[in-house]
Amino acid sequence: MCKLKISTDLAQLGNKADQTTGAISSPIYLSTTYSHPKLGQSTGYDYTRTKNPTRDILETGLARLENGARAVVTSSGMSAIQLVFQLFESGSKFLVSRDLYGGTFRFFNDLEEKGIAKFRYFDDFVSLKTQYDSAITAVFLETPTNPLMNEIDIKKVSQLLKDTKTQLIVDNTFLTPLRQKPLDLGADVVIHSGTKYLTGHNDVLAGVVVAKEPDLGERIAWIANTTGPTLSSFDCWLFIRSLKTFPLRFNRQEESAQKIVKRLEQHPSLKRIAYPGKGGMISFYVKDEQRIAPFLAKLKVITFAESLGGVESLITYPTTQTHADIPQVLRESYGLTSDLLRLSVGIEDSDDLITDLEQALTVFN
Ligand code: PLP
Repeated sequence: MCKLKISTDLAQLGNKADQTTGAISSPIYLSTTYSHPKLGQSTGYDYTRTKNPTRDILETGLARLENGARAVVTSSGMSAIQLVFQLFESGSKFLVSRDLYGGTFRFFNDLEEKGIAKFRYFDDFVSLKTQYDSAITAVFLETPTNPLMNEIDIKKVSQLLKDTKTQLIVDNTFLTPLRQKPLDLGADVVIHSGTKYLTGHNDVLAGVVVAKEPDLGERIAWIANTTGPTLSSFDCWLFIRSLKTFPLRFNRQEESAQKIVKRLEQHPSLKRIAYPGKGGMISFYVKDEQRIAPFLAKLKVITFAESLGGVESLITYPTTQTHADIPQVLRESYGLTSDLLRLSVGIEDSDDLITDLEQALTVFN
C-alpha cells in the first residue's frame, strides 16, 4: 500500500503491535528489565532505559511524522534540547535565534557563563548570514519564534550551511510537522516540547528529538541511554494516545486562531497582533500595560497560565512567566515588551473564546 496520510498513520499508532492479544491500544510495558533466553541471547529488550516496547512504538511513529531516521523521546522539551547539546564538544560555538523560549535562553546562558559553549544571537536571516562563519558548530532556531512569532526561512538557512560542517537544529514546537517539516527543508535535527501540541492535554511533560540521518540518530540514542533522560512507559502510552487526535486538535486550534485574529485585528484596545497565518498561537500588544492584571482577572473561559498547545485555551504574560529569565533590557531591545500577551488557542467553540476576549478587553476602555 502507498504511504499513509499523517492522520491515518497516527490514528493507527500502536494498533496491531501486540499480536498475542490483538490489543488495539498498545500495552504499557512497565517492566524495567527483561529476561534473557540464555547467556548471550536477548529478546531485543534488556533494560528499559536502553529500549522499551511502548517507547519503541512512539519513537517509530514520531520519526515517520517528522520524516526522520530516528526519534528519541525524553522527559521534557528542555531535556530534549540538553540531549542534543551533549553531542557537541566543550568550547563549541552556536548561532541562535534571538527570540526564543526563556528556558532555552536560560540553558544557553548557563552554558556560556560556565565557559562550556559560546552563543551568538541573530534577529533575522541577514544578521544570521553576517555573523556566520565556519567555526560555528550549529545553528539553533525556533520558527515562528516564541513569543514574537518571527519567521525564519529554514530552507534558506540550510542552503547557507550546505557543504559546511555546521548542523542545523530546529525547535518545531509551535507549527508542528503538520505545518512544517524542518528535516525536509534541510535541517539535521528537530526538537519538540512534546508537552505542547503533540500531547496536547496539559497533562504530559515530554520532549522529542528527531535526527534526519541514522548515524546521528544512533549517537543521540546512545547519549540518551548513557545519561538517562528517558520518558517513562506510562507517559509514552499517554503520548501515543494523544497523537491519535493530534491532527483533529491542531486543525481546530488553527481554525479558531484564524477566526480570533480576524475578529480582533482592528480592536481599539490592541496595538498589534503577531500571528504567522497558521498554527494556534497568537501574540498581541495591548494599548495600556497597566490594565493587564484586570484584563487577565476578567477572562472567564481562557485561563491565565504558562504553557501552550493544549485543548484548554491559555493566556500567558511572557514578561513575568515564560520569559522572566531574560533580562528586561535585553528582552525589550528586541521587542519582547511588557505590553505583550501570548494566547494559546484551545479546542473550545471559537465564538465563546471571542466573546470571552471581547468582554475582558473592555477593561482597556
Ligand atoms: N521549546 C519551546 C518553543 C517551548 O515553548 C518550551 C516550553 O514552553 C520548550 C521548548 C521547553 O519544553 P518543556 O517545557 O517541555 O521542557
